[in-house]
Amino acid sequence: VKHLFAEVGPIRPPSESRSLLIRFSRNCPWNKCLFCPAYKNEKFSLRSLDELKRELLYLSEIYTKLKSALNNTTLYELSSNLKQYFPEEQLHDAHRMLHWIYHQEFNIFIQDADPLLRKPSQLIELLSLLKQLFPETNRITSYARATTINRFSTEELFLLKNSGLSRIHMGLESGSDNVLKFVCKGFKSKDVVDACNKLKQAGIESSLYIMPGLGGKNYTKEHVTETIRTINLAKPNFLRLRTIGLNSQIPLYYKFASGEFLILSEEEIVKEINDIIQGIEVELNLYSDHNLNLLMEINGTLPKDKNKLLSIIKRFLSFSEQKKILFILSRRMNKVFELGEFLSFSPDEEIQDLFEQIKHLNKEEREKFFLRLRSQNL
Ligand code: SF4
Repeated sequence: VKHLFAEVGPIRPPSESRSLLIRFSRNCPWNKCLFCPAYKNEKFSLRSLDELKRELLYLSEIYTKLKSALNNTTLYELSSNLKQYFPEEQLHDAHRMLHWIYHQEFNIFIQDADPLLRKPSQLIELLSLLKQLFPETNRITSYARATTINRFSTEELFLLKNSGLSRIHMGLESGSDNVLKFVCKGFKSKDVVDACNKLKQAGIESSLYIMPGLGGKNYTKEHVTETIRTINLAKPNFLRLRTIGLNSQIPLYYKFASGEFLILSEEEIVKEINDIIQGIEVELNLYSDHNLNLLMEINGTLPKDKNKLLSIIKRFLSFSEQKKILFILSRRMNKVFELGEFLSFSPDEEIQDLFEQIKHLNKEEREKFFLRLRSQNL
């Protein structure tokens, strides 16, 4: 199949950056979440089973060719001489497959936002084909809306698990139904609890995203307490933090601009994270792996690492006002990624200039400035 390009969707979780991306469906069938920049103005569509099967065969032909070439050459040489092995139109996919081989992790991520919204029999066929064509595959993961998981029976989920599906990433965003309603998430926190429980019964891991700051000033208390309650009920295997960011591509931005949505300060968002960590009573792996987060080193296993993670936050909160601002600027300008790095970092001219620009702003204006800076990382 010479002239086919494999389709790739626009986003994947940070933890799937080395995974082979396979696009089962395009865009998002819901598309209404007010905080979400992805897929806006794009229509959801299922890709046909035949088209997908052809694409998987095409990728596996490239994969097999690369593997046999590697019997006689090194990965580095192959990468510089790919043109000798593949026609021009296949080079992009050959690079992707080589990247997959290079990292030796052999994970597959299925796209886009809700790719399991398809008949279970078709999903089983596609997953089985993936395992057959790429026998080295380690884990297969996917995004899904909680309501999509809840459409399956436990038996169907069990069959998906047996066909290779090992982990599902779901957006919880907030445990508060008021916040979920405010941002048009389209389900309640109980739906996520049910989905996690179903997945657990089927032996599929769950990874939940929550969005610190999403309740703004009006809902911050409820956002925290209800998120804690929901996580303790859902008991996900993984919990990931993704701080709210806003720009003009995001519908919620306009509620912020009109004054209806009152944003929290960077410090208040960190305090929300602090309280959530404190309240979690179940065992899970916590990750701060999104560049929108201020403190990127909040990674660990709860409850074991609880005190360690809380002490990182405490350290930030103990900074003087000026030091906090300098850290936030350095972090938001991507000069440092962790608090530890900042302790040995002397703010350069660019950071000093920004500091001079904002030091006289009132707190509200300063926070709007920080929001703009961090939203460049969206
Ligand atoms: S379900 Fe996910 S992809 Fe779809 S609009 Fe909501 S956050 Fe965005």
